[in-house]
Amino acid sequence: MSNNVHQGHLARKRFGQNFLHDSYIIDSIVSAIHPLPDQAVVEIGPGLGALTEPVAERLEHMTVIELDRDLAARLATHPFMQQKLEIIQQDAMTVDFAALAAKAGQPLRVFGNLPYNISTPLMFHLFSYTEAIRDMHFMLQKEVVNRLVAGPNSKAYGRLSVMAQYYCHIIPVLEVPPESFRPAPKVDSAVVRLVPHATLPYPVRDLQVLARITSQAFNQRRKTVRNSLANLFTPEQLKDLGVDPVLRAENISVEQYCRLANWLTENPTSQA
Ligand code: SAM
Repeated sequence: MSNNVHQGHLARKRFGQNFLHDSYIIDSIVSAIHPLPDQAVVEIGPGLGALTEPVAERLEHMTVIELDRDLAARLATHPFMQQKLEIIQQDAMTVDFAALAAKAGQPLRVFGNLPYNISTPLMFHLFSYTEAIRDMHFMLQKEVVNRLVAGPNSKAYGRLSVMAQYYCHIIPVLEVPPESFRPAPKVDSAVVRLVPHATLPYPVRDLQVLARITSQAFNQRRKTVRNSLANLFTPEQLKDLGVDPVLRAENISVEQYCRLANWLTENPTSQA
């Protein structure tokens, strides 16, 4: 049998399908999620149900979002899960998570072994709903987890670290080797927990401004911010805001980026 056929389903590359089959890893992920019966749990990309089954066992009801029509149809006829599952056959990027939380009457617990080709935009989509989300557990490329959790002064620290840490407290949970999946991906994977901050530690008035500053700084990460942000701040303005102009993008903390963003929002016309 082809390596790409798992439980009679031919894995579709375009949907980022790599199915978990390692029971130790599956148990570890379910323990980390620790779903409780009265919680509103949503899985993105249930696939053939490797995580869905053990999680649904602990719940009365569960929502799953699956883009692949064939897999959604399989779940709809699943012998012991069909009663419990609300199946949304849709692209998770277009799902209104606030509406799901409103329907459930409580913030959501979201998890998934995400399709790696869309994991970063999907996380950004979810960050726009952090008020509706209690926590998230995701399987991602290990390299993406490293970037999510990285602090200043490290190579992995970048725009994704700043934007994700703006919204969430982020904890790496578990590393997962390629052999735990069928077909095996070419990269190492890891599970991460993201817990939206109840109160944002450094609220910014305009997120677009934070996104703009971080992408501009990190797109020229070898340059000092005096140069990479020269069209936005004078060296004196940077100093007044507590940012040494000779630093590079990777030396600046989330708090400092947020301070720069708020200043720029308040002083839109005084750009350097
Ligand atoms: N949860 C299963 C497991 O762990 O074995 C499958 C994980 S597989 C890496 C990713 C799953 O996400 C697939 O079932 C795929 O069809 C689904 N998927 C891909 N793109 C999606 C999207 N945009 N929205 C929702 N599901 C998607």
